[in-house]
Amino acid sequence: MLVSMKELLKPTREHGFAIGAFNVADSCFIRAVVEEAEATNTPAIISIHPSEHDFVGDAFFGYVREITLRSRVPFTLHLDHGASIEHVQRAIQCGFTSVMIDGSLLPYEENVALTCEAVRLAHAVGVSVEGELGTIGQTGTSVEGGVSKVTYTDPAQAEDFVTRTGVDTLAVAIGTAHGIYPKGMQPELQMNILRDIAGRVSIPLVLHGGSANPDAEIAESVTLGVGKINISSDMKYAYFQKAREILARESWWDPNVIYPEPINAAREVIRHKMKLFGSTGKASLY
Ligand SMILES: [Zn+2]
Repeated sequence: MLVSMKELLKPTREHGFAIGAFNVADSCFIRAVVEEAEATNTPAIISIHPSEHDFVGDAFFGYVREITLRSRVPFTLHLDHGASIEHVQRAIQCGFTSVMIDGSLLPYEENVALTCEAVRLAHAVGVSVEGELGTIGQTGTSVEGGVSKVTYTDPAQAEDFVTRTGVDTLAVAIGTAHGIYPKGMQPELQMNILRDIAGRVSIPLVLHGGSANPDAEIAESVTLGVGKINISSDMKYAYFQKAREILARESWWDPNVIYPEPINAAREVIRHKMKLFGSTGKASLY
């Protein structure tokens, strides 16, 4: 089944788990996420960045909707880092059930205004909205970008933002970065900021750039109100490591012969993340 983010994340706080949002940009990754979710009865979020949307094209989502609608496991089809109202409208027209509007680099009042406009459009058709406050760091290895200096989310501002915009989820900056961390870069999550924000707002919080943080930190963040965690780089890394290995070893050219092993490599990462977030088997709650 295909549901809104609001509906998908409803049981997360009460039951103390988070749901993985996996960035996909082709049918192999869709299969990795959907097949792993079905095999383990786990809710999952299929996340598409605007650059990935451009790559796959609008018609691709007919396939994504078909495969998720007929599944017994709940999925949400989500736009990751929408940067404009045009991105949001395009996603809604393609049948997405959740959109992110990222005005985090704008002055605060402009972020509020842009997010309010996205909420007005999306809520009119039952689509959920994720906003962002503060900035996610960058490692230079991800299409999602980010900034070189992280601005942590201000908890009091988060409360004001949620009240004024009516967003369904909020991405917070507590020290994560997009991509795979280079050697020497030591991410450290600010749990006190997360605790403060979670005490002020009741909507689920979102962690971006969760690929390479220590498992223990991620698990702790879930107990503090994080309901959605974005995963992209380490799943894609595992997939392409396996693909490189096969292509270096064999002279094959048939996709149906080459890709099953990379899909399995991606599924192993997805399986591990689902367990870490506590979402494995939770499809029974819907
Ligand atoms: Zn992100």
